[in-house]
Amino acid sequence: MKRLSMILFLMFLGNLGFSKTIYLVKVKAANKFERTKVANLVHIDRIKKGYVTAVVNKAELKRLKKKFQGKLKVVDSYQTKNKKGHVHENEYEFPKKDVKFHTFDEVITSLRKLAKDHPKTVKTFNIGKSIENRDLLGVKITAGGFADEMKKPAMFLVGTHHAREHLSTEIPLLLSKYYADKIKNDSKFANFMKNRVIYILPLLNPDGALHDIKGRKYKMWRKNRRQNEGSQYVGVDLNRNYDFRWGQGGSSTNPSSDVYMGKAPFSEPETQGIKRFVENHKNIKTMISFHTYSELILYPWGGTYDPVPGQELKVFKKMAETMAKWNNYKPQQSSDLYVATGDTCDWAYGVHNIFCFTFELTPSSMFGGGFYPGAKAIDPTFEENKKPVNYLLKYTDDPYKVLK
Ligand SMILES: [Zn+2]
Repeated sequence: MKRLSMILFLMFLGNLGFSKTIYLVKVKAANKFERTKVANLVHIDRIKKGYVTAVVNKAELKRLKKKFQGKLKVVDSYQTKNKKGHVHENEYEFPKKDVKFHTFDEVITSLRKLAKDHPKTVKTFNIGKSIENRDLLGVKITAGGFADEMKKPAMFLVGTHHAREHLSTEIPLLLSKYYADKIKNDSKFANFMKNRVIYILPLLNPDGALHDIKGRKYKMWRKNRRQNEGSQYVGVDLNRNYDFRWGQGGSSTNPSSDVYMGKAPFSEPETQGIKRFVENHKNIKTMISFHTYSELILYPWGGTYDPVPGQELKVFKKMAETMAKWNNYKPQQSSDLYVATGDTCDWAYGVHNIFCFTFELTPSSMFGGGFYPGAKAIDPTFEENKKPVNYLLKYTDDPYKVLK
């Protein structure tokens, strides 16, 4: 197994199109408290019995070594090389085998087309621009008109905070088409949707996602594309940048880290866009932030080991456990993995009382392709997540009803 994992790791890195050294490391960590100490420095990739693994750059390795002397093992390192003449630097397209995934332009085109094809039930909305000035576009879906939109209980679906998690763009995008068509073809559902709105924003981090595929080679990019002042390192981790408990663990103050929290809460235009949109839509009662990978359904808190207050914990648990029956993901409190602060769902629930879940989509491990499971993963992942999302939509008017 060890050997196989090394071979897979090397094969995987061989597909990356940039030139630098990255390292696969193992760090001893027996429980969530010890894992949190690791998560304060780097993004934890896998949790195993007694240890975690992470893929890190040189600067991250240096900090890990300092802090975890004797507990750290570099399993492998790899010098990635640019093949001269084979990298088309300006080509923003997925590698050939994965062209089924949608690029930024294709996402925008699909959303606009959906609105055009369903003029009475689908409208586009814009929450602002990314740091490189790309539109952060979504669709709102309802039946019976938009005049009283704000009175209708709403579910908000957001994809791709993290650049390399491309499957987390595809699932909300497919859901937008699924719901628009379902209103058209299913009169019972259309009737139900007269008292619901669905907001779907499939791609919150377009700059990062495009950077990750640039030259048609994956780059394992996670953050946005902020040029950090006074640093050679680019990017802020958008899922550590929300202001609720910001900077209180499981995120880094160092721009070279993959979990860099940003220089201030809501420093990034992408998270500011979410903030404004949610503040202006008090009708939002439920929310899912899609990520990959691990096959988990996570609920607050992520920023502390404490549970949320009693009655609300019951609602979160009941919802997560019910949804997990359909997709076979593991339902759990987010901080059972490790503490992470500044994430979407702690903020959505902590500040706005929204029942917010983080879905870590397929696969369950690196052996299923990790962040790059291939185009074959798109349809089955969509199919297994339809029912969970439908369930959340059903109880969006009053989440406490799940306890009755
Ligand atoms: Zn993620």
